[in-house]
Amino acid sequence: MSIETKTTCPYCGVGCGVIAKVDDTGKVSVAGDPDHPANFGRLCSKGSALAETIDLDGRLLFPEIAGERAEWDEALDLVAKRFGETVTEHGPDSVAFYVSGQLLTEDYYVANKLMKGFIGSGNIDTNSRLCMSSSVAGHRRAFGSDTVPGTYEDLELADLVILTGSNLAWCHPVLYQRLAAAKSARPFMKIVVIDPRRTMTCDIADMHLAIRPDGDVALFMGLLAHLAESNALDRAYIATHTTGFENAVTAAASLSFDDVMERSGLAAEQLRAFFRLFETVEKSVTCYSQGVNQSASGTDKVNAIINCHLATGRIGRPGMGPFSLTGQPNAMGGREVGGLANMLAAHMAIEDRQDRDRVQRFWGSPVIAERPGLKAVDMFRAVAEGRIKALWIMATNPVVSMPDADAVAAAIKSCPFVVVSDVLRETDTTRHADILLPSLGWGEKDGTVTNSERRISRQRRFLPAPGEAKADWWQMAEVGRRMGFQGFDFRSPADIFGEHAALSAFENEGSRDFDIGAFSRIDGDTYQDLAPFQWPVSREGTTRTRFFADGDFYHPDGKARFMTIQAPETSRTNGRFGLTLNTGRIRDQWHTMTRTGKSARLSGHMAEPFAEIHPRDAMERGIRSAALVEVESPHGSVVVRALITERQARGSIFVPMHWNDQFAAKARIDALVPAVTDPVSGQPASKNIAITARPFDAA
Ligand code: SF4
Repeated sequence: MSIETKTTCPYCGVGCGVIAKVDDTGKVSVAGDPDHPANFGRLCSKGSALAETIDLDGRLLFPEIAGERAEWDEALDLVAKRFGETVTEHGPDSVAFYVSGQLLTEDYYVANKLMKGFIGSGNIDTNSRLCMSSSVAGHRRAFGSDTVPGTYEDLELADLVILTGSNLAWCHPVLYQRLAAAKSARPFMKIVVIDPRRTMTCDIADMHLAIRPDGDVALFMGLLAHLAESNALDRAYIATHTTGFENAVTAAASLSFDDVMERSGLAAEQLRAFFRLFETVEKSVTCYSQGVNQSASGTDKVNAIINCHLATGRIGRPGMGPFSLTGQPNAMGGREVGGLANMLAAHMAIEDRQDRDRVQRFWGSPVIAERPGLKAVDMFRAVAEGRIKALWIMATNPVVSMPDADAVAAAIKSCPFVVVSDVLRETDTTRHADILLPSLGWGEKDGTVTNSERRISRQRRFLPAPGEAKADWWQMAEVGRRMGFQGFDFRSPADIFGEHAALSAFENEGSRDFDIGAFSRIDGDTYQDLAPFQWPVSREGTTRTRFFADGDFYHPDGKARFMTIQAPETSRTNGRFGLTLNTGRIRDQWHTMTRTGKSARLSGHMAEPFAEIHPRDAMERGIRSAALVEVESPHGSVVVRALITERQARGSIFVPMHWNDQFAAKARIDALVPAVTDPVSGQPASKNIAITARPFDAA
């Protein structure tokens, strides 16, 4: 007999429901949950291989201090003591937490409460900063809150789906399957892919626009100007529900058609065909992901897209709207509880005195962070400069994943006190830790996650905790208590979820978008049985599928904002660094491969790191097919296999982000990425990096 548990996939932001079965022998198998509204039983290759990735090989099973096994009490006391002493001596901004979209919402909540409400600093940021923070910033500028307007169903209902900076087929595979099925059922549906590469997503596209990296702002400014010229605007919607249109459209019109061609790298007939399609097809959704977000102009890209939807009133209605797709399983949950340095819990704003006051009174906390903390790149800079003296890293591997990764490694090494909570004993980051704390992995931990369409689902435990591993929320609550703070006596994730829900409704009367107050008195049984739902949830239990259908936004005047945008220069190449590097995911690996790398089946898809390069670029540089190639930026170099293909646009190279030096010598691609960030969101530009490439000379 086997025991079945309904849970959620721990990989991408689609947030698929999974049924995990454990048989009499302890063997685990997985299947898609037919009742989960994200996937209706589907799973992609990564989700299907989950059972192959949960062995205990390489696990961190016991706390360690300075490399020696320690008792939990001893380790937690030391963390509390060192953080407390550092705060006393150097102030609250001398400490920081760097957490992860892999954390569950309950973990995130406790981390945020401890740092912002009790230590009194905003210095908690997350690797989600690297993933979707430009979308957060764009939403807040346009809507007055970080609110995703649409749902997955909108992709199936639309007559035009634009995928920009999104290789949906590989990065959100089940959503791609849903879109492909919808297109089969409704052949008149049009799909446009905007991407410098001809990715697998183009298999279902009617139009592929091989845009120049960072040409998106110009493209959508050109579209806005075209809509105005063609009298294809929804003037009534603009007048009633928005402000700032005239300035935005004047700025857009200042870019000539030739400028748009030049900056986007697209031909006149391609631009005209795309503009005409958007102009004429009302039911249109524009999805965007890392190709938009991971840019020095990421926030402007997001707002350039939103501008076009506001101008046509295509938002909040079935089959219409801008739609940010999150990369990680709980990037959205982190946003809900203030997991970003510039946000407070329950979608409240750290810059807003009333919000700060409300959160502080709810927590009964002695202090509250009064200003945004350091965002990821600035946080590690502060570590390098000695301004951060105690750092707690949780469920992430910044030595591999941060831009300018070698400098990040050196910074962590130089930090006087580093705590790492992880499931693995040996990562590029754990080796720099003074204290290692063993965390629970997927299948062992309990909590909630939120997917890209605001759907909260349970991750449930179906495996015993290995060794002495403990939940991340428990570790932080214990440290909070040992630092002498009240309000950290949580007994279970249900307790934390209930408090989080109560905060979302505290003195709030449901007037804000994020409200799950209906669950503020949730008990353990109800939490255990919680079915997936979309926020907000009224006291009566009804949810809202789409936002902004009524034209009500969250700025004080209730109106959305058009943003006036200037098109950035797109070329970053210079001198001998005459090529452009774009980084990204492949279908069967996840992040730094700490889990997916365990599956032979998944590793069989692409066994080693590679650089996709156009045949002409390869020929000019003497690079032969399948030979080793050295890709170098001013920050570092990697050696990978050349994959010569016409899928790649001339002048740019694609290298996947997953491999690190543990899997292949000199393959850490983020060592090449400069620490350049979007000025609004602080998100690093992991695309459009000036590089050079040449045959690798082993001698
Ligand atoms: Fe998991 Fe994403 Fe695949 Fe769904 S699409 S099974 S959430 S990796």
